[in-house]
Amino acid sequence: MNSSQTYQLNQIAQIIGGTLVGKADFEIDRLSIDSRTLVLASNTLFFALEGDRHNGHDYIQDLYEKGVRAFVVRKPIEKDLFEDCNFISVKDTLKALQVLSSHHRKHFSYPVVAITGSNGKTIVKEWLYQVLNPYFRIVRSPKSYNSQVGVPISVWQMEKEDELAIFEAGISQSSEMGNLEEIIQPTGGIFTHLGTAHQENFEDSRSLLLEKIKLFKSCDWLVYCSDNAIVDQEIAAYCDEKTELLSWSKTKDASLQIFSVGHVDRYTCIKALYKGKEKTIRLPFSDVASIENAIHCWLTFLHLGLSDDNIRKGFLDLQPVAMRMELKEGQNNCLLINDFYNSDLSSLIITLDMQNQYAQGRKKTLILSDILQTGLDKENLYAQVAELIELNKVEKLVGIGDHISSQSDLFKCESIFYPNTETFLKTIDTKVFKNEIILIRGARNFRFERISSALQNKAHRTILEVNLTAMVHNLNYFRSLLDTKTKLMVMVKAFSYGSGSSEIANLLQYHRVDYLAVAIADEGVELRTEGIRTPIVVMNPELHSFETMLDYNLEPEIYSLSVLKNFESVIKKSGLKNYPIHLKLDTGMYRMGFVGSELDELIGYLKDNPHFYIRSVFSHLAGSDEEIHDDYTQSQINKFEVWTDKIRAEFPYQIDRHILNTSGIERFPKAQFEMVRLGIGLYGVSATNQNKLMNVSSLKTTISQIKWVDKDQTVGYSRKGKLNKKSRIGIIPIGYADGFNRKLSNGVGHVLVNGKTAPVVGNICMDMCMIDLTDIDAKEGDAVTIFGDDYSLNKMAEQLDTIPYEILTTVSRRVKRIYFQE
Ligand SMILES: *Cc1c(COP(=O)(O)O)cnc(C)c1O
Repeated sequence: MNSSQTYQLNQIAQIIGGTLVGKADFEIDRLSIDSRTLVLASNTLFFALEGDRHNGHDYIQDLYEKGVRAFVVRKPIEKDLFEDCNFISVKDTLKALQVLSSHHRKHFSYPVVAITGSNGKTIVKEWLYQVLNPYFRIVRSPKSYNSQVGVPISVWQMEKEDELAIFEAGISQSSEMGNLEEIIQPTGGIFTHLGTAHQENFEDSRSLLLEKIKLFKSCDWLVYCSDNAIVDQEIAAYCDEKTELLSWSKTKDASLQIFSVGHVDRYTCIKALYKGKEKTIRLPFSDVASIENAIHCWLTFLHLGLSDDNIRKGFLDLQPVAMRMELKEGQNNCLLINDFYNSDLSSLIITLDMQNQYAQGRKKTLILSDILQTGLDKENLYAQVAELIELNKVEKLVGIGDHISSQSDLFKCESIFYPNTETFLKTIDTKVFKNEIILIRGARNFRFERISSALQNKAHRTILEVNLTAMVHNLNYFRSLLDTKTKLMVMVKAFSYGSGSSEIANLLQYHRVDYLAVAIADEGVELRTEGIRTPIVVMNPELHSFETMLDYNLEPEIYSLSVLKNFESVIKKSGLKNYPIHLKLDTGMYRMGFVGSELDELIGYLKDNPHFYIRSVFSHLAGSDEEIHDDYTQSQINKFEVWTDKIRAEFPYQIDRHILNTSGIERFPKAQFEMVRLGIGLYGVSATNQNKLMNVSSLKTTISQIKWVDKDQTVGYSRKGKLNKKSRIGIIPIGYADGFNRKLSNGVGHVLVNGKTAPVVGNICMDMCMIDLTDIDAKEGDAVTIFGDDYSLNKMAEQLDTIPYEILTTVSRRVKRIYFQE
């Protein structure tokens, strides 16, 4: 991230109390903390942060090769390894980042608003920005950068030309807020909401609240809702008279007293009393959370002195904050990344990173509109854009708008410009885009969603939405259960439990899992051709695929001597040596694997055999999810330990051991050995701790048609759906060929429509089925959830008397997968 203020390295060393080895006057204006999101190398200072699993020090070589020459490190680095490099060594690199940012903050005297609370932080921040943007030059947190790392990076963006700063702050542990307060040093505060999220590290919601409000220690004013009694009491008790308390309430006397909330269509009209005067706003939303978020903003605007007219106008134009970037399949093997909601420079950096992450050999194209309201002059702004484009090796630019077109000379890649979106759509032949990853990014009034739909693969209306943010959340949850040294293999067999192939593997590679596992060689080949470099194990190596496995560097599970011998003959022919293999032991699943009596022969065969290298030995638990089988599970673990000791004693090198699947990781943490194998948990299902996980996949469709059908008529094949009253029947385009199991026919299965459950009527057909909408307010085109965030996969599994695994993996391949990140 870029700051217009330049620091010299000796100055920074002094600020953060570190020792500089290198050039004192080396100039820094950018900070980086993640080698993967490095944007510009020159004048960048890299902080080698250390987490439980990632150590920034491991990427110094990589960054050096990309041109970075200044680092903040914990361990002194051998200078001769990196000749022309500059290092500042400190005791704690995260602390150093925070101290530097806190120092930077002190240069500015314009108002700084800090937002915290359990929900709504990002939305309140973005809405404040949307409404205030015409009147102030604003610096704000990019996306949801609100953590111990995100806050210093956000604050570092402050520049002297700005007039207002808006930052969000989030915590997950006690004693974190003090740090964030010192960095942000807010002059005004907003407390959005006290919820139950992230409570695991706090005794109760009161202690969580007490930690959060430390953010407002020195604020001149604080906006909050006084309807929650705990919030009201604790804020009053915590803040001294220096802080002006600005409360709003629907029930009692407050700075802004709400006395009516009415709905007309999708609009909400709110009336309130402020300083003895009646005020009214209209919002283009009607849900409870949006109304609450909007009132926080309203009171803030009133306090900042915005006129009633400007407030009214601002609220009417309010746009939903889409925190999602969507990944969609385009025509001609293109992949589209849609990002229509953020058009500033700093979030362009983030989306370009996402483009890199998913490119995998596709040509990188950027469709970009004018970037509005940055406060920079055109030349300077587009010079920075051009620099970003070059650095990220974007190969083709489509620029839309007068400003970007006027700066066309700055762009060195293949580029073409249009004055507006309409001209582009009229002129363009979509076939010119082929095998490309296209980032479509425009300011809102350019309405780039029209470009996206023109380039999109014509969608079947039934889709599986895959929430990659939720997947990362789940990954991190399971990682938190592991010792720091334990390696992680993730099962991506069966199309990643139905959720996709390279899209998921890419994400896992990016998050540095140690191994991926597929069922058959073809799945592994697909991942390799898509550019996945993480080691891959094939659980079911078939004779005919051995050569392919060597070609694509796939490592087989070996479960019998005959497989071993067949594989050996293929290796011999190839001339390879020490080929990595994974031995499967059968400790009681009675599926594949060597049993105890075969070990001597196996060891004898492998010992001193030059063709193989045993990477790991593993086994699989038959009932790790159920308490009644715990003795059996323990006996499997014990057997495993004895057998693997025996094998490992015979080889001079390290052989990793692993036996735990998802529920094993949760329930038998002592048996982690050197590695574990995560499966269903990543995809959002847990036998023991469902509430720790986020739902990943949602199967959705839309209503094609609605009709009234008379009493005593029948719906669908075999006339099974007999109606006992006049009914409103909805037809939805999902059938058993999509994975909507026919056993769910005739009222067994239900779907969710506008928050209500609708039963299936009659037999499910191949490509569609019928549902009863008599008691539901719904129209054609409305969304239908088969399973998802609000209608759980577990519920559907129960209706079908099966397990979530089967439902996920039987969603047909013809159902389009749509990926998004929040
Ligand atoms: C599928 C599979 C797993 C993952 O099991 P989950 O219950 O989904 O975690 C682990 N190990 C092996 C050998 C598997 O086949």
